[in-house]
Amino acid sequence: MSDLTNPFLIVQGQLHRAVKNLGLSEDVYEMFKEPFRITRVSVPVHMDDGTIQTFIGFRAQHTDVTGPTKGGIRFHQDVSEDEVKGLSMWMTFKTAVMGLPYGGAKGGVICDPGKLSERELEELSRGYIRYLAPVMGPEIDIPAPDVNTNPKIMGWMLDEFDKVRGHHTPGFITGKPLVLGGSLGRDAATGRGVLFVVLRAMDRLGIDPKHATAAVQGFGNVGSHTARLLHEAGVTIVAVSDVRGSAYNPSGLDIPELLKYVEEHQTTKGFPGSSEISNDELFALDVDVVVPAALENQIDGKRAEKVRARIIAEAANGPTTPEGDQLLRERGIFVIPDILCNAGGVTVSYFEWVQNTMGYYWPEEEVNEKLLRMMNDAFDTIYAMRNEHKVTMREAAYLVAVHRVAEAANARGWLRVNFHHEVPQALLRGAGD
Ligand code: NAD
Repeated sequence: MSDLTNPFLIVQGQLHRAVKNLGLSEDVYEMFKEPFRITRVSVPVHMDDGTIQTFIGFRAQHTDVTGPTKGGIRFHQDVSEDEVKGLSMWMTFKTAVMGLPYGGAKGGVICDPGKLSERELEELSRGYIRYLAPVMGPEIDIPAPDVNTNPKIMGWMLDEFDKVRGHHTPGFITGKPLVLGGSLGRDAATGRGVLFVVLRAMDRLGIDPKHATAAVQGFGNVGSHTARLLHEAGVTIVAVSDVRGSAYNPSGLDIPELLKYVEEHQTTKGFPGSSEISNDELFALDVDVVVPAALENQIDGKRAEKVRARIIAEAANGPTTPEGDQLLRERGIFVIPDILCNAGGVTVSYFEWVQNTMGYYWPEEEVNEKLLRMMNDAFDTIYAMRNEHKVTMREAAYLVAVHRVAEAANARGWLRVNFHHEVPQALLRGAGD
């Protein structure tokens, strides 16, 4: 990872620019440029072959100025402390964009889960939580799934936390199985949120979804639900890819059949009627929307130059490098920034936590309807900010987020910033053009 692709340095730059553009004091940057707590754990696991292997994990908690910290846990061989720190800060700005009562956090364990047996994975998941339990809880820090983690792992983690605390705490973690207090609609929530903001962007740009085409990189939780929901909305999905391969059909992929195929083969590669396409080719396709839904730094300068889509919907966190972002801006491509685009996940996680607190559970339609309202409101506020300040959607999202974070710090007496003459009109109006 170079300085140019280091998520921690990238988000620091984004924060700094927003502080300057809002005319706020440098103190705001100084206060929020680092996570307030980073915990490093080493988790010994009894491997199936009788040996012991120790795995390194992190949890970065960026700020609790707006509420308990919140963010997913990632299992991946490329996890690093800087990646987790950067992702925790993006979570702060994401929850601020959505107006959720949370700060940001992120966790990660350096491991290749594909090489672990189910028993080894469970021991690792439980150990990670056992060592972090003192700094976690429904009112302190609330984890959730991210890359290579899922409801089953959340179930083990909840059970471990309950054992440590000695009582039930369903609100400790979100994205858990329904039977343990999960929320209907959580599994598809990130993809559904992507759908809602893509439809909103298409409306603003005069694109008819029924005549639109899209390509999706990554076919895990976020990518597969996004592809399915866009397909159901009438969008033709011409290409999808995952870490093992891809499926391309210029006349459109049969997404329900592809989902069945992936269930059986664990990859999109070899899907009947499709051909293979490289990631470089996928990002250069002549489609209306490209959805990066895999990992960071996928759209660099080289790929950004070749993008032909009108909309980039950042379903992944940090999929565009600063150089790529600059080129997309110059080329007038409409980027729906990650901190808005994939916020459906944390929003329904918030609904899950609220339901756990009440002990009363909502039907799926209610969850989806509330999500639609919140995604549309957030989109409209950012779109209005973009128009008011003549900036990109990403810059506008940071203006909204950083303003809210600074306002909360002010209200707590952490800062002394006078906002009275600085509140952007878009925030006063709340929504609309
Ligand atoms: P996942 O593990 O379910 O899926 C990741 C997918 O990306 C897999 O299909 C994998 O094969 C693919 N992939 C990895 N490297 C690739 C490559 N080089 N080329 C093509 N495909 C590749 O993870 P997820 O939960 O879907 O998360 C994906 C992204 O969305 C991450 O950036 C994550 O932080 C972000 N995100 C996830 C959630 C959530 O609720 N799960 C919420 C917000 C943001």
